[in-house]
Amino acid sequence: MADINPFESLQEQIDDAAAYADVDGDVIERLKHPERVLSTTLSVDMDDGSVEQFRAYRSQFNGDRGPYKGGIRYHPNVTRDEVKALSGWMVYKCAVVDIPYGGAKGGIAFDPRNYSESELERITRSFAVELRLLVGEDRDIPAPDVNTGQREMNWIKDTYETLERTTEPGVVTGKAPTSGGSAGRVEATGRSVMLTAREAFDYLGRGIEGATVAVQGFGNAGSVAARLLAEQGATVVVVSDSGGAVYAADGLDVTAVKDHKRETGSVTGYEGADEEWSNEELLTADVDLLVPAALENAVTADIARDVRADVIVEAANGPLTPNADDVLTDRDVYVFPDILANAGGVTVSYFEWVQNRQRFSWTEERVNDELERIVTEAFDRLVETFEAYDVPNFRTAAYVVAIERVARAFDDAGGNW
Ligand code: GLU
Repeated sequence: MADINPFESLQEQIDDAAAYADVDGDVIERLKHPERVLSTTLSVDMDDGSVEQFRAYRSQFNGDRGPYKGGIRYHPNVTRDEVKALSGWMVYKCAVVDIPYGGAKGGIAFDPRNYSESELERITRSFAVELRLLVGEDRDIPAPDVNTGQREMNWIKDTYETLERTTEPGVVTGKAPTSGGSAGRVEATGRSVMLTAREAFDYLGRGIEGATVAVQGFGNAGSVAARLLAEQGATVVVVSDSGGAVYAADGLDVTAVKDHKRETGSVTGYEGADEEWSNEELLTADVDLLVPAALENAVTADIARDVRADVIVEAANGPLTPNADDVLTDRDVYVFPDILANAGGVTVSYFEWVQNRQRFSWTEERVNDELERIVTEAFDRLVETFEAYDVPNFRTAAYVVAIERVARAFDDAGGNW
């Protein structure tokens, strides 16, 4: 829904929590705006000899708790306001899981599917040259987001290190293992979604085993979350991507769906499905758990009125509009928010950065154990806050935890000067 501005959604979420958080009004106002935004136009040579321009942004929202941190996305919907919102969500996400970072986000407004690999490399390196003004191991640390991954992070690292004449692998996270990437980083976002869902179902006294699940979006977060939920004994009955949804009453073989998508580019046409559905049918499916794992604003108030799942765990950033959130709160649907549920990505980015700085690698087992500890502790803190503050929903509870942590860091450092 292009008419819902994610930056306004972010500000509304902060206002909702400000009513409960023990934080001064002036500080709240400060926490609603980015500290700075780089806006630039990249001019890049295309394979056919032409030159194309690309709008690119990096928003550094807040650095009170540590270096700015957050991904870079390649998508035609990227706007300055979207990047600002996403950078704010990173601040609160890092605070909820209590890792020592502020928040940032970057993006280039284009559809990478229409470009060759060498064009993508030149676009990425050209952005990296601009980012060099802002980034650094102790300043601002990019990472993957929608439509970017290890390949792009390796290009950014290489460009930065070449220009700076140094080796500084911690300048970016989500790299390939051969370039200093961490074990477990690719799976990390989906893993925290699974852990949050598992903790949520335990808290609600039901257990995840046997729960039916719908997953909207089958990219890195959605496909891994679906597989790990199935490994926990949940039944993933429907998954989708931008092409549509596939449904199987007895549960999908998630790995086979993933293979099918790798071969054909879409989940649709998977032969193990009973039926093909639209994305809207998926969002309103009669399941125990809905996992929106695509883009912002996937669930509007209209859809929220028809949602039949009674638990939602957000794998995407900002998948519910504020109005949808209100409808779901009124309908007693439990929403476990993005800033906790998908925080596994940035948490393992943090582990990657720690390993890079120590020039020492952890095993995958250690990464997953530490991630589980951090997510379960954050979940417990969320529930404690939800109960102690009498807030209307878990999102507001998460923002109360996060805002109080950021405001405390700001105050303890001396506040405004
Ligand atoms: N892009 C991911 C997110 O939205 C990961 C960010 C990071 O690892 O810095 O959380």
